Amino acid sequence: FSTRLERDKEVNVQVLLRCRPLSEDEQKSNVTRVISCNELRKEVNVANKQVDRVFTFDKVFGPKAQQRSIYDQAIAPIVHEVLEGFSCTVFAYGQTGTGKTYTMEGGMRKKGGDLPAEAGVIPRAVRHIFETLEAQKADYSMKVTFLELYNEEVTDLLAQEDSSRASSEDKQKKPVSLMEDGKGCVVLRGLEEEVVYSANDIYALLERGSSKRRTADTLLNKRSSRSHSVFTITVHIKEESMGDEELIKCGKLNLVDLAGSENILRSGSRDGRAREAGEINKSLLTLGRVINALVEHSSHIPYRDSKLTRLLRDSLGGKTKTCIIATISPSAHSLEETLSTLDYAYRAK
Ligand code: ADP
Ligand code: MG
Repeated sequence: FSTRLERDKEVNVQVLLRCRPLSEDEQKSNVTRVISCNELRKEVNVANKQVDRVFTFDKVFGPKAQQRSIYDQAIAPIVHEVLEGFSCTVFAYGQTGTGKTYTMEGGMRKKGGDLPAEAGVIPRAVRHIFETLEAQKADYSMKVTFLELYNEEVTDLLAQEDSSRASSEDKQKKPVSLMEDGKGCVVLRGLEEEVVYSANDIYALLERGSSKRRTADTLLNKRSSRSHSVFTITVHIKEESMGDEELIKCGKLNLVDLAGSENILRSGSRDGRAREAGEINKSLLTLGRVINALVEHSSHIPYRDSKLTRLLRDSLGGKTKTCIIATISPSAHSLEETLSTLDYAYRAK
């Protein structure tokens, strides 16, 4: 991030690249690698017989990078901003199977113990926020929401099941409507906000929401690869009062696991999913355009063009920090998708 002096003009968008390791199956079947990462030079090289390209990012994490180092190097500075009262957003962008959910959620908490090494951004951010505020003996409150955006429709992942609904798919759904309050702030009517008092509370909510997402996944084949999930932590921190006045800092952190980027290419209607493909494209493409416009200090930012960008409007641009973690596979089989992810992410820089 650049210095605060330049804050008015600086671009607060950071783009990181993470390449996952080959899976055991891929190793067994001797899949060819086409990606090499140079973390020091912040470069990714894509090379085979036809292609030889180098992309540079703000940070590059190779297949051996640990969850912890990604958090410490890239996310911790963003959480500091949140604790200072800013709104920030972290996106995971990439083809299905490249590690978006692993990066954002990762392995869950071991029973009773500390976080496992595979814990991702969400549990680490939660722990970081609680530990910092407790150490400061701050007077604070924290709320969490967890939603899914599918077909431009918002579903509450924390809502308890409504057993009165007929079909099992309807049971998963609780419609949430997105509105603006006239001052440019986003209001989500019908979305449950859970007040949390400890890191353990949040892990339970995260588990509840993710398992709901997984259930919806089996009901509707691979739904999660076509939906976006947004986990939002809001903190209100009471500041030292000056006289009678009480000041409250409000910080917000959005952690977004985007739909698989392969949906961007697949806009055809082969399997009768034209509308769906179109809608997924809309959010991913609009997000790309919004970020481009922010990076280029354009006077018009097309927030209104998709629900995802409307939803995140007050957390994108201005004084907020945005971090995109683009995830790729090292395998030759994914070459085309990988190049498309690298291009999308590179344009966001
Ligand atoms: P996505 O959410 O992008 O579809 P996942 O996060 O589900 O992808 O990852 C696909 C598989 O690869 C999972 O089994 C996950 O555990 C594994 N995986 C992804 N990234 C890594 C990584 N950096 N290290 C180890 N395993 C990983
Ligand atoms: Mg996933």
